[in-house]
Amino acid sequence: MLDSLGNLKRTNYCGALRASDADKEVVLMGWVHRRRDLGQLIFIDLRDRAGIAQIVFNKEQNPEAHKKAEELRSEYVVAVEGRVVRRQKANPEIPTGDVEVFASRLHILNNSKTPPFPIEDEVSATEETRLRYRYLDLRRPRLHSNIELRHKIVFEIRKTLDELGFFEIETPFLTRSTPEGARDYLVPSRVHRGQFYALPQSPQIFKQILMISGMDRYFQIVRCFRDEDLRADRQPEFTQLDLEMSFPRQQDVFEAIEKVMERCCAIVGIAAKGPFRHLDYKDAMRRYGSDKPDLRFGMELRNVTELFEPARAALHFEGNVQAIVAPGAASWSRKQLDELSEFAKSAGARGVYTAKVTAEGAASPLEKNLGAEGLKNLVATIRAKPGDLIVAAAAKEQVAHSDTSLNVGGQLRLYLGDKLNLIDRSKWEFLWITGFALFEWSETEKRWVSAQHPFTGIVEEDIDKLESAPWECRSKGYDLVLNGNELGSGSIRIHRQDVQARLFKALGLSDEQARHRFGFFLDALTYGTPPHGGIALGIDRVAMLLAKEKSLRDVIAFPKTTAAQDLMAESPSDVDGAQLDELGIAVKDVK
Ligand code: ASP
Repeated sequence: MLDSLGNLKRTNYCGALRASDADKEVVLMGWVHRRRDLGQLIFIDLRDRAGIAQIVFNKEQNPEAHKKAEELRSEYVVAVEGRVVRRQKANPEIPTGDVEVFASRLHILNNSKTPPFPIEDEVSATEETRLRYRYLDLRRPRLHSNIELRHKIVFEIRKTLDELGFFEIETPFLTRSTPEGARDYLVPSRVHRGQFYALPQSPQIFKQILMISGMDRYFQIVRCFRDEDLRADRQPEFTQLDLEMSFPRQQDVFEAIEKVMERCCAIVGIAAKGPFRHLDYKDAMRRYGSDKPDLRFGMELRNVTELFEPARAALHFEGNVQAIVAPGAASWSRKQLDELSEFAKSAGARGVYTAKVTAEGAASPLEKNLGAEGLKNLVATIRAKPGDLIVAAAAKEQVAHSDTSLNVGGQLRLYLGDKLNLIDRSKWEFLWITGFALFEWSETEKRWVSAQHPFTGIVEEDIDKLESAPWECRSKGYDLVLNGNELGSGSIRIHRQDVQARLFKALGLSDEQARHRFGFFLDALTYGTPPHGGIALGIDRVAMLLAKEKSLRDVIAFPKTTAAQDLMAESPSDVDGAQLDELGIAVKDVK
C-alpha cells in the first residue's frame, strides 16, 4: 500500500543537512539510494537533488516505522519525518556526514522497478543503456551538479547581458534556411503543401535584422539545428549564446564576452579576466599549427623546410616540414616512437623523422639524408638540448592556399604535449583569433566558399579584391578559443547592400539565386542598416569545460547519440501514413 503525500511539507533538502541542524524535527523527501538492514537497525541513504542523508530506523524505539522500512528497495520514493542528531562517528566522505536522522514516521510514496544500473557516479552501464534510461542516468549526482552548473551559467549570462543593456529577443524556429555550412532540418508545411520551413542553423539573419530595426543590443540563449555528419563532439541541436550589437568596434564585442566569461568562470572559482590575449590566424597556424591553439603549453612549431631541402627527393615529401622539440623525450622507447609515427601518419604526415639529442650530438637515421652537418644545423636552429627529441613531419599533400604541414605539426604538438604531460590543467587560457581569410577553397565544390558565413565583414582595403583576388580578402571575423577548444565565432558584419550583393556574387550565386534565398535580407539592408557585429558561443561546450567533463552529453539533459538519435524517446521515428498524406509527402527508398 502506498501512502499519499497529503499535506506533508518538506522542510529540508537531504543533502543540505549540517551539524547546525542537530535536534531539529525535519521532513525529508527523496529516493532510497541504499538500504542496510542490521536487524535491530535499518539504515537508508536518502537522496535528493542536494545530496544524501543517512536515516536510521530503530526497531525498539519505532517499531512501526522500522517494520515499514523493511519493505524499502532501491529508488523507492519516500517521505521521512524525524529528528536530526549528531552522529557518534562522523563520515567525512559526505557533506552531511556529521549528522543522521532518527526516523519517527515513514511514508512510502512510490515504489520502483529495479533500475538497470545503480545510481552511482561511476557506472559501468554502456552509454546506450544510460541514454535509453536517461531519467535514471540523470539521477546521478554528477549529472545533477552538471545540470545545476549549466543553469547557473545561463542565469549569469542573462544577468550580465541585462546589465550591459542587451535585450533578450526570441527569433523563429520555423523559418528559412540560414547558411552556416551545414544541411538544414526541414519541416514540411501542411497549409502550404510542397513548401518547407527550415529550422535555423543560427539566428544570424534575424539578429542582423534586429539591428536594422534599431534594437541596438540583442542576445538570445537559443537552440540551433545543423544536420551534419556527426562527430563525437557534435549535437544536431545545440544551444548558443547568440549576440549582436549596433555601432560596435570589435573591441566592444570582445569586452561584452569577456565580462560574460569572467562571471561564468567565477561560478566555478576560475579567475578569467579580460582583456584576453589576441593572436592573428596566420601566427596561430605558424606557431601552433592550429586555428584554436591550446596555450597551456609552449612547444611551438618550427618550419625547417630549408634544412630538409637537400633530402626532399630521398624522403619523398611535398611542401613544408615542421619540427617540434619534445623536451626530455630522447629516452622514448622504440615502441613509443613507433606509436608517435603511427599517430603522425593518421594525422596526414607523409613521414615523421625523429632525432634524439644527447650531449654528444644528435642520433638519428636522418643523418643519412641530411648529413652530419645538416643534422647539427637542425639541432642548433631549433635550439634542442641534450635529452630532447626532435620530431619533424611533412604533410602528405598540399591543398590550395593552405599549408597542410602546419595541421600535421599542430596535431603532433597536442599529441606530444599530452604524452609528455606538459599541459597545465590548472590554466584557463582564453584567446581571440583574428585575421581570418574571408574565403576558403572547397575542393569538393571547386569554388571559393565563405570561411565562416556570407555575412562576415570584409576589411575595407580588401573589398575591391572580391572579384580579382578573393583569396587575399581578409575578414572581420574572430573566434574565441579556450584551452584549445573553439567556444564560438563572430564578426563585424557587412552592412552595405552593395557589398553584400558583391559577396554573394563572389560565392558564385547569380543575382537570381541570391534574391531567391536572401531577397528579404538584401531589401532590409537598403533601409538604413547601422554598422553592426556580434558573436555566438556554444553554451554546451562552455558548460562542458567548466564542469570539467569530456563529453557534451554530460551537460545536456537530453542529448542525442552520435547517430543523431534520442534513444529514450526513440526519435527519429516513423509517422502515421495519415500524417504524411496530410502533408502531401511520400517516402521513397526507406533504408
Ligand atoms: N551565426 C554565427 C554562428 O552560429 C555566429 C555569428 O557570426 O555571430 O556561428
